[in-house]
Amino acid sequence: MRAIILSVGDELVLGQTVDTNSAWLSQQLAAVGCAVAGHLTVGDDQRAIEQAIEESVGRCDVLLVSGGIGPTDDDLTRQALAAVLREPLELNEKWLHRLEAFFRKVGRPTMSPLNRVQAMIPRGAAMIENTAGTAAGIDASYRSGDQKTVCRIYVMPGVPKEMKLMFQRDALPHVQHAGGGAVILSRILHTFGLGESLVAEKLGDLMDRRRNPIVGTTVSGGIVSVRINAKFQTMEEARRQLADAELMCRSVLGDLVFGQDDDTLPLVVAQQIDASGDQPLITTAESCTGGLLAKMLTDVPGSSAYFDRGFVTYSNEAKTGMLGVPAELIRQHGAVSEPVALAMAEGARAGGDNMIGIAISGIAGPGGGTPSKPVGTVCIALSSRDGTIGRTFIFPGDREMIRDRSAKMALTMLRFHLLGKEMSF
Ligand code: AMP
Ligand code: MG
Repeated sequence: MRAIILSVGDELVLGQTVDTNSAWLSQQLAAVGCAVAGHLTVGDDQRAIEQAIEESVGRCDVLLVSGGIGPTDDDLTRQALAAVLREPLELNEKWLHRLEAFFRKVGRPTMSPLNRVQAMIPRGAAMIENTAGTAAGIDASYRSGDQKTVCRIYVMPGVPKEMKLMFQRDALPHVQHAGGGAVILSRILHTFGLGESLVAEKLGDLMDRRRNPIVGTTVSGGIVSVRINAKFQTMEEARRQLADAELMCRSVLGDLVFGQDDDTLPLVVAQQIDASGDQPLITTAESCTGGLLAKMLTDVPGSSAYFDRGFVTYSNEAKTGMLGVPAELIRQHGAVSEPVALAMAEGARAGGDNMIGIAISGIAGPGGGTPSKPVGTVCIALSSRDGTIGRTFIFPGDREMIRDRSAKMALTMLRFHLLGKEMSF
């Protein structure tokens, strides 16, 4: 079975919204062995949508369309589909009643006439329920005059949440039933701390391009991700092989792997704290990152359970005044030094028995570097009841990168502390 994915929306062709629907749909199709012949994107232009549908129906067995079924004048997918099918749009009474009931429920007894169009579908097509929004989806079949070409067409809303629900409930069973091709299952393992080439070196033969599952690496924001794709004829075989390959990758990478798939460093740290018996409280003391570490930690919902406070101590006076770092220590070693970072972490923790203080002091640039402390020099310290440890790193890149890597490295030091292990790199 072959599919084409068509996304509709001016915001997509203008690059204002990233087309996440196509990526997600492709992943879903790969997982059930449906080959994707291509992705198409067109703006809110009826002729362009018609052309895209006409071109696609002869090249695939199923066409998945998302977007352009809202209530406004620029939503033209249903009109385009009706034109290609040469059928008139008809009002679907069932969906009209659903819409009216919905608007009554939200306290708007008179529904805008604009919304009526959301209950219109081409004659002969079936309406697909939308449990999360007001636009009904459309399930249609295109047949060429000689009946040689038959293509199933699913039209779904552009809103990712609504599209996903509709696809999984209505389109996926059809695609699965038709089946045929190989199944591709994937797993992504995330690492932070070593460069891509060093991660690849550790993986060695596992990255041989002739292998199946195939293992590859990508890097984004300093996070090196290992992608494992298993392509097999059956779901069971793909699952088993993927699990085996994952195990082999994990065994060579060890604790370098902080998470998988949608995991992020702050989320993983949150899970570690949650799982630990004594629920430590985290405090931060930041200089060059200006609060970025505290921001990352508090990106996680529920972080108030373990995040106590964050200090942004940019000046030497703030380091002394708020964290009790001795002025003499700063004079002697400079603000960017391990002794000062250690004192900042201890000051932030303020002796709290169950507290962990993390401090960052560095030179984010572009100015301020010296031969002995070049731009990118960052000292990170972590203080707990087990003692205080510090490390000095030299991060490459511009100001934004150095700040980002500093905060991620601080999270990584925290992760290893919570693991009860020494950082292995
Ligand atoms: P529409 O159904 O065309 O009115 O789209 C509603 C909203 O869904 C748009 O404003 C976009 O924010 C979002 N959207 C539409 N298409 C996509 C897509 N392919 N990927 C991600 N978001 C989308
Ligand atoms: Mg739109």
